[in-house]
Amino acid sequence: MNLNDNMKEIVIQQKEFFNTHITKSLEFRIENLKKLKKLIQEYESEIIDALYSDLRKSKFEAYETEIGVVIQEINYTIKHLKKWSKNRKVKTNLMNFKAKSYIKKSPYGSALIIAPWNYPFQLALSPLIGAIAAGNCAVLKPSEISKNTALVLEKMINNNFEKKYITVINGGIEVSEALLALQFDYIFFTGSVAVGKIIMEKASKHLIPVTLELGGKSPLIVDKKVNIDKAAKRIVWGKFLNAGQTCVAPDYLIVHKDIKDDLINAIKLTIQSFYGDNIILSPDYPRIINEKHFDRLSSLLEKQSVIYGCISNREERYISPTLIDSPKMDSNIMQEEIFGPILPVFDFETEEDIYNITSKFPNPLALYLFTNNKKMVENIHQNILFGGGCVNDTVMHLTSPYLPFGGVGTSGVGNYHGKASFDTFSHEKSILHKRFWFDLTFKYPPYNNRVGWLKKIMNKL
Ligand code: NAD
Repeated sequence: MNLNDNMKEIVIQQKEFFNTHITKSLEFRIENLKKLKKLIQEYESEIIDALYSDLRKSKFEAYETEIGVVIQEINYTIKHLKKWSKNRKVKTNLMNFKAKSYIKKSPYGSALIIAPWNYPFQLALSPLIGAIAAGNCAVLKPSEISKNTALVLEKMINNNFEKKYITVINGGIEVSEALLALQFDYIFFTGSVAVGKIIMEKASKHLIPVTLELGGKSPLIVDKKVNIDKAAKRIVWGKFLNAGQTCVAPDYLIVHKDIKDDLINAIKLTIQSFYGDNIILSPDYPRIINEKHFDRLSSLLEKQSVIYGCISNREERYISPTLIDSPKMDSNIMQEEIFGPILPVFDFETEEDIYNITSKFPNPLALYLFTNNKKMVENIHQNILFGGGCVNDTVMHLTSPYLPFGGVGTSGVGNYHGKASFDTFSHEKSILHKRFWFDLTFKYPPYNNRVGWLKKIMNKL
């Protein structure tokens, strides 16, 4: 059997297994979430090694942003799953007297999850938790670029779950394309805007519902009269985590002109205090994923005015934390998502100056605003459409299971995390449940000349 036939066969088997209804019971879902957690704990050191080989992530960062996040998500899901799975009662309108109304959650069937390379463990398994919790079967396609993590995922899942329930299929674009030709019941994609468009187009062929977790240029705005040292710490952490290869990393900074110099100084000092004077030697500073991305980032730096950093080593795939002064809006660095440790810096005087910059880009995935001015928060949040974000912090909003995470427009469709993951992988069936003892006979033909009454009733209800 060739790879294509094999994939086809897996989807058929998953649909057959789904139709046995085994995956839908609460006990089965919880049992498999617990099993997944146990496996992650068993494979912990292999996962950490793989993340080190792929991105030179430190053990701390591997646990903080990948393994720990997934374990927390499993714990939270197990704790709340019974409650989430219950039918949600809603009111019944008068026209339907006497009945009860409720919303029933149902899994879709076999879900395809396609993951990127930047948080290759977390972004593969977080959606899988939602798929299991809702009662789906799933095929997981990790990124071929983070190959070491992809291999650990394959080993961990395929040696322990039956492929008719959950399986990992590794491979590059050809494998992804072959999977997209199959009739899955749901597609959850995390990756670039360009590929997101391809996914949506392919899904439309079979009208498969999709969640698209994409990217974009997320602005970071810093007003005057903020605590500059604390702001610098939160900015440097969020921007240079994973060497800037984070979908919600601040892409560019717009700082009030009165504090521009002070903030830049505080950012420089913070970078040194986090990673030392010779950052390439820091065990906590990751590497660019591959040469292709190293070269892409290096080319973004050409002909730019460097404020700080810009030290690189291709062999090591190392680019130091770098600040760039006011690049031209039509330069490549402002025309694409940076997705690396480079932060362009602009300044503003009025809110209009901010909108003049942000309006040049499509809806960002995140927006970060540092200010003590409530009115400014209200204005910026009202006037700019973005996926989600923080006030006086960066990146941390996505660590809360209470905050659904996703983009809008080109930064994504749909959301997940916590209950939102369960909801994403569930269809909501709206049910009107009637009794027999009362019937509104008025609605049945022959209608004679009752339309006047109908108008009166419908216009009032
Ligand atoms: P990518 O779009 O290149 O790849 C993502 C996945 O799609 C991989 O598994 C890859 O094999 C597959 N793929 C690539 N080309 C394909 C094609 N032509 N047809 C079908 N499948 C294809 O993205 P990436 O480089 O892995 O990740 C970086 C991007 O992902 C950035 O834009 C980043 O902002 C975004 N991202 C978003 C989130 C989020 O949660 N919103 C999280 C992480 C990354």
